[in-house]
Amino acid sequence: MRPFPWHAEALERLMGDRGKLPHALLVHGAAGIGKTQFARALAAAALCEAPVRGLACGECPSCRWLAQGNHPDFREIVPEAAEEEEDAPEGEGAKAEKAKSLVIKIDQIRAVEDFIALTTHRGGYRVLLVHPAEALHPAAANALLKTLEEPPPGTLIVLVSDRPARLLATLRSRCRLLALPLPSQDAAIAWLREQGVEDPGAALATAGGAPLLAQRLAEPEEAQFRRRLLAELARPGGADALQFAATIDRGAVERLVFWLQTWVQDLVRVRLAGKPRHHAALGAALESRARASNLDALFALDGELASARALASHPLNPRLLAEHLLMAYNRATSAPKP
Ligand SMILES: [Zn+2]
Repeated sequence: MRPFPWHAEALERLMGDRGKLPHALLVHGAAGIGKTQFARALAAAALCEAPVRGLACGECPSCRWLAQGNHPDFREIVPEAAEEEEDAPEGEGAKAEKAKSLVIKIDQIRAVEDFIALTTHRGGYRVLLVHPAEALHPAAANALLKTLEEPPPGTLIVLVSDRPARLLATLRSRCRLLALPLPSQDAAIAWLREQGVEDPGAALATAGGAPLLAQRLAEPEEAQFRRRLLAELARPGGADALQFAATIDRGAVERLVFWLQTWVQDLVRVRLAGKPRHHAALGAALESRARASNLDALFALDGELASARALASHPLNPRLLAEHLLMAYNRATSAPKP
C-alpha cells in the first residue's frame, strides 16, 4: 500500500521517526487528493515488520495480511453507506440503499473499544482509521474522544477529513494535525494521463486541482450528467426545474449541487469581467446567462450551495432540494435589467 506519488515525501517525513508518531493524527486537505490512500499507506507503514525507508515493505506477513484485508491489528471505520458503495454489487435495491446510514454511529466506535484496549496480536502498533471523520455522529465522536484520552501505548488513530472545521473542537484538539497539499499541476496531469483521462488539464481545472476528483468527474456517467445539467442551466428561459429535479435521486443530488456551484461561480466571474474557471468551453452560454443575472442573487445562491453541499451528504428529500436550488437559480439569472 503506497501513497500517491505527490504524498510520498510527506509520509516518509512522518515515518522518519517512528518513536515520535502521535497516538492520534488528523489528516486533512481538499477533497479528491488521496488523503484516504495516504492514511492507509500510513497504517501499512506503521504495521510493517520490515519497513523500507520508513514505508511498508509490501512483503512481510503484516503487509500481506493488510493487503488481504485481515490484519488483526488494523480496523477501518466508515459510514455504512460508504461500505456499500465499495463492496456491494451493482443493482442493489434502492430501498436497501436508503436504509444504510451516512453517519458513523456510536455502535461502530463501541465495537472497537476492545480492539483498542487489548494487547496487539503482533506486538507492534494497532491502527484505527476513521473516515470521513466529519461523518462521526456527535455521540460517536464523544465515544471516540474517551478513547483518545488514554490510549494504550502503540495505538495510532488516524482521522481523515475534507472539512476539519466540522469536527468537534475537543476531538480536533486531541489530534496532531497533518495538512496534505494539492499535488503540483505537472504531477497531477501526468497521473491523470496515466489513468487514461482525456484532456487532463481541463479535467484538473474543473476539479480545482484535485486529481482524484478530476478522474471521477471525467468518468462517462458523470460527464453525461454534467452535459445534461449544463444544457439545462444554459437555456435562455432558465432550467426546467420541476422536470429536471424529478430525475434527481440521493446519488445525484451531491453532483447537482457540485456542478451548479461551479456554474454559478463561473457566472460570477464572467459578470465581474473575469474568465470562467470551470466551464471555459461554454463561454458564450455563460456570457449570455451572466448578462441576465443579478450579482447579489448569484452570491446568495453560491452561499446557499455551500450549505447545501454539507446537507447533500445527509438523508433528505433530494428532489425537493434540487427543485428549490434550480428555482433559486432561475430567479438569480432572470433579473430585470436595472
Ligand atoms: Zn511489510
